[in-house]
Amino acid sequence: MKNYQRDNLKKIKPVSVHGGHSGQFCNHAQNTLEEIVIKYIESGFEWVGITEHIYPISNELRYPDEAAAGIDVSLLAKRFTDYIQTCRMLQEKYQDSITVLTAFETETYSGYKKFIPALIQQFRPDYVVGSIHHLPVNSKSIHSEYNKYEDVCIDYSKEYYDNAADALGGVENLYCRYFDIQHEMIEAIEPSVVGHFDLIRIFDQDYPERIKNPVIWQRITRNLELIKKKNLIMDFNLRALMKGAKEPYISAPILAEAKKMGISVVIGDDSHGVKDIGVNIEKGIDILRSAGFDTNWQRPKMLYCSRS
Ligand SMILES: [Zn+2]
Ligand SMILES: [Zn+2]
Repeated sequence: MKNYQRDNLKKIKPVSVHGGHSGQFCNHAQNTLEEIVIKYIESGFEWVGITEHIYPISNELRYPDEAAAGIDVSLLAKRFTDYIQTCRMLQEKYQDSITVLTAFETETYSGYKKFIPALIQQFRPDYVVGSIHHLPVNSKSIHSEYNKYEDVCIDYSKEYYDNAADALGGVENLYCRYFDIQHEMIEAIEPSVVGHFDLIRIFDQDYPERIKNPVIWQRITRNLELIKKKNLIMDFNLRALMKGAKEPYISAPILAEAKKMGISVVIGDDSHGVKDIGVNIEKGIDILRSAGFDTNWQRPKMLYCSRS
């Protein structure tokens, strides 16, 4: 009731804990980063974390669109350096209109436990979003281009997803592996924000039943407990809606469990261009408000106290 009264007095301001991918720094996004920041200002956002993807650890782990464009890892690393500098510049330039945070979204392919801390040390982001887009799988029965590395991208296409599931002996095992890697990543990286918690359901129509499977549900609650213990924020990721899903990542039963545990959940639009900004934001706020979450959005824990 208290929340309801306060919300009536003051309109809830949109924020995004995960977003701002731009065509300037990401091959599968659009627009310049400055156009993106301006759109966030125009859309009334109070603060936004810009969380561009990191560059890959090797050429083999480039996104197919980067490989097709012939951009190699050294160029991607250079572009990423430029991203951090540009984001810091925009942070200053627009500080009177919006709080921009300079962050990035991490990966879990082989070698990440050394690679990510090195990136954090080098680039000193305000915070990181810890996401899983790759799973290590048995290399024998999967897509040949990945055989050497055993890291299969799970959200790029249904074909990759199915390959990963086959290599692991089924979709149930795929979920288990996903949540096990997520647990390991949270321990290893301690990201301020955990990205799209249940992304593993992306190509699985049967996910509402699947997550109830005790071997999967037990892993979900185990990970939620770790998130709570470390006081991390969960990204309420609206991109799922844009891709045709019925609900954002995190799905309702998991969201209810997070609420029970007292975990902070904050909207992330995961925007990949100006056209995504503000879309579904009211729907997202409504779901979180109805579920009883605090709409005085918690800000991500900053990795460094002050910036130079
Ligand atoms: Zn992306
Ligand atoms: Zn992501």
